[in-house]
Amino acid sequence: MNTRRKTRPVFVRGVPIGGENPVIIQSMTNTSTEDVQGTLEQIENLRTAGCSIVRISVPSPKAARAFGEIRTRTDMPLVADIHFSHSLAIAAIEAGADKIRINPGNIGSEEKVKAVVDAAKRAGVPIRIGVNSGSLQKELLAKYGHPCAEALVESAIGYVDQLESYGFDSIVLSIKASSVPVTIDACRLLAEKTDYPQHIGITESGTARSGSIRSAVGLGTLLADGIGDTIRVSLAGDPVDEIYVAKEILKSLGLAQGPTVIACPTCGRTNIDVAGLAREVEERVSSIQKTITIAVMGCVVNGPGEAREADVGIAGGMGRGQIFVKGKPVATVPEDRLIDALMEQVQKLI
Ligand code: SF4
Repeated sequence: MNTRRKTRPVFVRGVPIGGENPVIIQSMTNTSTEDVQGTLEQIENLRTAGCSIVRISVPSPKAARAFGEIRTRTDMPLVADIHFSHSLAIAAIEAGADKIRINPGNIGSEEKVKAVVDAAKRAGVPIRIGVNSGSLQKELLAKYGHPCAEALVESAIGYVDQLESYGFDSIVLSIKASSVPVTIDACRLLAEKTDYPQHIGITESGTARSGSIRSAVGLGTLLADGIGDTIRVSLAGDPVDEIYVAKEILKSLGLAQGPTVIACPTCGRTNIDVAGLAREVEERVSSIQKTITIAVMGCVVNGPGEAREADVGIAGGMGRGQIFVKGKPVATVPEDRLIDALMEQVQKLI
């Protein structure tokens, strides 16, 4: 895999985005921001799952006040998501936002954008410029005919120039489209033109099933190119699921630590409930930080050999199964003891 592209780091409440730092996982709450308690609970659930930065919508003055209260009750780095209102952006910054996400094109006049930038400068917080295929400027749509990669990049670079002209360079860029190829092309092109860190994601990617796959293809392709300093997997549903998918994408490319559970696809030789056992193992190892590969295999004949690369694993037999370490059997135990025996080996390894 290519090495990661070097970008200039930006800090969000001490969490670095870019430079040579690990790729940061972020998500967005989907509670009503005015529901302070509910939002705080979701933030904690996201943190427990492995999220490092949380974005919160600030669609009204009431939400801005709630954002301020949330800010005082958690130390999680918080990004305020603002559309259409420079006064809400300034209110969120004054309420303690650690970063704001805006599309300067929908904030209004240059003066209004400058007022937001000045507030961010005073507070020392970065701005994410979010360019989205659904909200491209009319002039660029007319020039290119549709929201293609070139149009999206021209839009983003135009906003960068605007912010730089105000003496501001604490910038993170994101270009998102619901089309995976357009997102990939646009982020690649953007990476050729600027070294600002990139927040990458596939917008409106879909449900947990389709959205996970579309995100894995889009983000995985870019990350394998070395592009992407922070990622958000957008899924319709509980945002905590986004974190599990994001972690798997990063681990599969060697960009994050943590356990990986592999399982055989099962076949006519399968003697145990491989899928059920694998899900249980995933649950049991979810809090482990160390990189370790654990295999759940359906038969003792081929399982240990096929999963030779795994650090530890189980292979099912008739009413009993084998525990193996690096492909070599180390114990045979009854089926109902398999997971406990596996976990003992995992504990030894970590
Ligand atoms: Fe089939 Fe055994 Fe291979 Fe699983 S490990 S796919 S049960 S041969």
